[in-house]
Amino acid sequence: MLKEGRMADGRVVIIGAGQAGYQTVASLRQEGFEGPISLIGDEGRPPYQRPPLSKTFVKEDSPPEALWLQSEEFYANNGVEARWADPAFVIKADAKTVELASGEVIEYGHLVLATGARNRKLSIPGVELDGVTDLRTASDALILRDRIGRAQRVVVIGAGFIGLEIAATARALGCEVTVLEAAPRIMGRAVSEELSAHCFDRHRAAGIEIHLDASVERIVGETRAEAVALSDGPQLPADLVIVGVGVLPNVEVAEAAGLAIDNGIAVDASLRTTDPAIMAIGDCASFPTPEGALVRLESVQNAADQARLVARNIAKPDEAQDYAAVPWFWSDQGDLRLQMAGLTSGASERITIGARADNAFSLLCYDGDKFLGVESVNRPADHMAARRLMAVGGAPTRSDARDPEFDLRAFAKSRL
Ligand code: FAD
Repeated sequence: MLKEGRMADGRVVIIGAGQAGYQTVASLRQEGFEGPISLIGDEGRPPYQRPPLSKTFVKEDSPPEALWLQSEEFYANNGVEARWADPAFVIKADAKTVELASGEVIEYGHLVLATGARNRKLSIPGVELDGVTDLRTASDALILRDRIGRAQRVVVIGAGFIGLEIAATARALGCEVTVLEAAPRIMGRAVSEELSAHCFDRHRAAGIEIHLDASVERIVGETRAEAVALSDGPQLPADLVIVGVGVLPNVEVAEAAGLAIDNGIAVDASLRTTDPAIMAIGDCASFPTPEGALVRLESVQNAADQARLVARNIAKPDEAQDYAAVPWFWSDQGDLRLQMAGLTSGASERITIGARADNAFSLLCYDGDKFLGVESVNRPADHMAARRLMAVGGAPTRSDARDPEFDLRAFAKSRL
């Protein structure tokens, strides 16, 4: 609650106690910011890591606290006024206030929107049946852990990163697993055709059935899910149906405040929204790349690096910088450790180093002569080398990469 006499000008209010919210707090203090900070959450727990939710967490019996990025004391010790279960409802940009669900009103000097994304819902009959679930939060993961431990036949709708991670996890737990994907290939939005094809083969070899171009018509059952019906095929029996069909950015509070929205909360190169006192970062923000494309990325690296930049710009406004970090992402799916450095979707050519047959290779991606980045399977050293090279603007040429003896690690070592 705004108390009389409080210096509100310098207060940083962060909406969203997730990966980006946590990192903003930590970086503000690391950068020497001494003003008041409020962190506003709505999940009833401090910020935690989401990546293990679809990988290890559902297989184990560890408590959600094991995922926390910091203990509750960390926030108290750093002078952070935290609300773990009191969502921000209204931003009044003119008055520079945020109103929470409880009615509390907090004044800000800087407002950081780190509201993340929520799962896209399927609108087909049967999604409300018992035994149909999805995964975004630790609470979802606790439900899924309980269900997956008892399931025999699992159908996953959606072959994106999270769907395939859960599919691999369910398979490792001994379930019969079928994945249904509407597109002609898996992970089609995020990785190259070569990588899709390799992962498709590996998942199939691990015993996961995958249907591409699948049109899911409905989920069948009286009160519990019993099967998934395709519009042009047989019903697939299921005692657990997991929906992983992408996310929508949480933009509603920003939109109601009059901020520009463009596939996320639109920000400029320094991550400011159309109101200069309000910044947006992480999964909810769509930002211009140094090349001028507008992108919204869903990754820990993006959330954390954007938070670091915003914190530095608030703490040291005279040294304010634009966002230019090299994007990277990973996904663990059974025996596939996928790592992507750079934004590679516009590649016209991919040069392979390593061997697909060994399940360990990297694809160096080019658009003409321009090096876009590297997609790696079980080659972490290539991934690290690519990130280091890209951070300094260095890159192998196509003829370097085509040399059968080409070694990306050695190349990076010679250049850095
Ligand atoms: P979030 O971490 O989602 O945090 C946003 C928070 O804001 C949430 O707690 C939300 O409830 C809250 N919020 C929303 N609106 C309000 C409001 N009005 N008031 C208060 N609070 C609000 N990334 C990787 O790089 N590698 C991986 O392997 C990987 N695996 C993943 C696996 C799973 C199962 C999931 C769900 C995600 C995974 N990700 C992975 C993505 C990564 O976790 C996200 O990109 C990252 O968490 C984004 O951070 P964020 O702070 O922007 O959003």
